[in-house]
Amino acid sequence: MSENHQIKSIVIAGGGTAGWMAAAKLSQHFAKTDITITVVESSAIGTVGVGEATIPTLRRFYQSLGMSDMDVMRKTSATVKLGIEFKDWYKQDSSFIHPFGLFGHEANGIRFHHYWLKLQALGDKSLLEEYSLGIAMARANKFTFPAENPSSPLSVFDWALHFDASKFAELMRDYALAHRVRHVDAKIESIQLNSANGFIQSLALDNQQTLTGDLFIDCTGFNGLLINGALKTGFIDWSQWLLCDRALAVQSELVGEPAVRTVSMAHPAGWQWKIPLQHRQGNGHVYASQFMDESEAETILLQHIDGKVLHTPRKFSFTAGRRAQAWNKNCIAIGLAAGFLEPLESTSIALIETGIEKICGSFPVPYFNQQNCDYFNEVTATEWERIRDFIILHYKANQRTDSEFWQYCRAMPVPDTLQQKMDAYQARGELLHFPWEIFHPDSWLAIYNGFHCYPDQYDKNVERLNPDYLQQSLAAMRNSIAAAVADLPGHQEFINQHCKAEWV
Ligand SMILES: Cc1cc2nc3c(=O)[nH]c(=O)nc-3n(C[C@H](O)[C@H](O)[C@H](O)COP(=O)(O)OP(=O)(O)OC[C@H]3O[C@@H](n4cnc5c(N)ncnc54)[C@H](O)[C@@H]3O)c2cc1C
Repeated sequence: MSENHQIKSIVIAGGGTAGWMAAAKLSQHFAKTDITITVVESSAIGTVGVGEATIPTLRRFYQSLGMSDMDVMRKTSATVKLGIEFKDWYKQDSSFIHPFGLFGHEANGIRFHHYWLKLQALGDKSLLEEYSLGIAMARANKFTFPAENPSSPLSVFDWALHFDASKFAELMRDYALAHRVRHVDAKIESIQLNSANGFIQSLALDNQQTLTGDLFIDCTGFNGLLINGALKTGFIDWSQWLLCDRALAVQSELVGEPAVRTVSMAHPAGWQWKIPLQHRQGNGHVYASQFMDESEAETILLQHIDGKVLHTPRKFSFTAGRRAQAWNKNCIAIGLAAGFLEPLESTSIALIETGIEKICGSFPVPYFNQQNCDYFNEVTATEWERIRDFIILHYKANQRTDSEFWQYCRAMPVPDTLQQKMDAYQARGELLHFPWEIFHPDSWLAIYNGFHCYPDQYDKNVERLNPDYLQQSLAAMRNSIAAAVADLPGHQEFINQHCKAEWV
C-alpha cells in the first residue's frame, strides 16, 4: 500500500477557462471541508482567449453548479450549436453534418443504420441525414428545447453552445470567488521542489509572495509550467497523425442570422472554423505548416470571411499530443497544460470537464496516494486516445484529390485502435464503443456516412422485417421529422425570446 498524502491546501496555477472551471467545481466539491483553494494567475500574461465551440457535456457541467442554460447564454452572448457542418471535407463541394443526437430509432436491438442500409439495398434513395432531427433543425436554422417525453419526435437530439470564452471564464471566476476561493494576480517566477520526494512545495511569485500547497493543479496553458517546466513530465507526440500545427484566429462582424451549427470548411492544408456568437463571429484557420506557409494561410482565412474583420489575426503554434502523465507527484494538469488536440470537434473544454470530474472523484477523502494517481493517468490517457482516433478519422477518410496534404492524410497508417474500429464498421456495420469514449456511436456513424464509407454488409436480422413495412416505417419517420421542424422557431427568434445578451 503506497503512502497517503494529506491535502489541506490546493493551489490552481492559471486563470484561463481551465483554471476557473477547476476552481469553481473544486470549491463546490470541497465546500464542507476546511481545505483552502487559491488561484494564481498573471493578468500581464493573459489567457489563450479562444475556445468558443463546445459539446453538450459543458451544459451538464455548469448545471451542476446551479447555473441555467438561458442565464449562461445571456451572460456569454451564446448561440445554440446543434452540431458541426463539414464542408468540402469528403470532396470539394460536399457537405455533411455531425449532429448531437441520433439517427432514427434502434429496434429489436439492431441499430437504425442497418435498417436504412437494407432500404438502400431495396433501391430507396433517402439519405441517412433525413432521419436525424438534429440535422434537419441545423439545415433549417431552427431550434427549440428537446422534449422531455421520450416518445416525442423532438426528444432525440442534444445541443451545446457557441460562447464568448472570456465571459464564460468570468462566470466561473465569480462562482469560485463567491465560494471561498482566494485569488492572487501575480506571475509565477520559480517553483520549489521538495528535495526528499520531488513534490512541488511552493511557487515564488513576482510580488515577493510564496504560495505553498499540498496539491497543485497546473492550468498554465501550453507551457505546462508546473507539470513540465518543474516536473519534466514529458509529452506524447501525435503529430504523425494530426499534422496541423498552426492556427490563425480572427473575429468578424456577424452577417445575417447566426448559424445553429459550427461550420468547418476544409482548405488545401487544413480547415477553417466559423463560430457565430450573438454579437460577432469567430473564425480561424487550422493548418499544417509543412504544407502551407503563414501568408497563404492568412489569405485563405480572410477570403472566406463574410463580415468585416475586427482585428489582425492572432497566431498559435501547437503540437498534437498529451502529457505523458496528467497527474505527476502532487501536480495534476488540466486544459492546455495537459495536452492539445486541434479544435475540430470542440473537445478541449470537454476534456477540462472530465479532468475536473476525475479530480473530484479522486477525493472522497482529503488525501491521495499513488493508486489514485495511476488510475487517473490510465483513464485520462484512454479518453485522449479515443478522441484522437475520432479526429484522425476525419482526415483519413477524405477523398479530396486537390492537394498533397489530403492525399497524405488518406494514405497514412492510423493507430491500431482506430483501424480496429474502421475494420469492424467496414466488415459488418458494427459501431464499436470502447470505455471512456466521449463520442456516441451515432457520432462515429455521422462521420463514416459523411465520408461515404459504407459497410460491406448490414445485420442480416433485418431481413426478418417485411420490406413494405420497412419502407412505410422509415417514410413515416422522415415525414414526422420534417413536420416537427416545420413548426419550430428560427434560431434568432429563439434567442430573442429566451436568452438575448444584455449588451447585444
Ligand atoms: C486556435 C485554438 C482554437 C480553440 N478552439 C476551441 C474550441 O472551439 N473549443 C474548445 O473546447 N477548445 C478550443 N480550444 C482550446 C481552448 O482554448 C482551451 O482548452 C481553453 O481556453 C483552456 O485554456 P487554459 O485555461 O488551459 O489555458 P490559457 O487560457 O492559456 O490560460 C493559462 C493561464 O495561466 C496563466 N499563466 C501562465 N503562465 C503563468 C505564470 N508564469 N504565472 C502566473 N500565471 C501564469 C495565464 O495568465 C492564464 O491565466 C482552442 C485552442 C486553440 C489554440
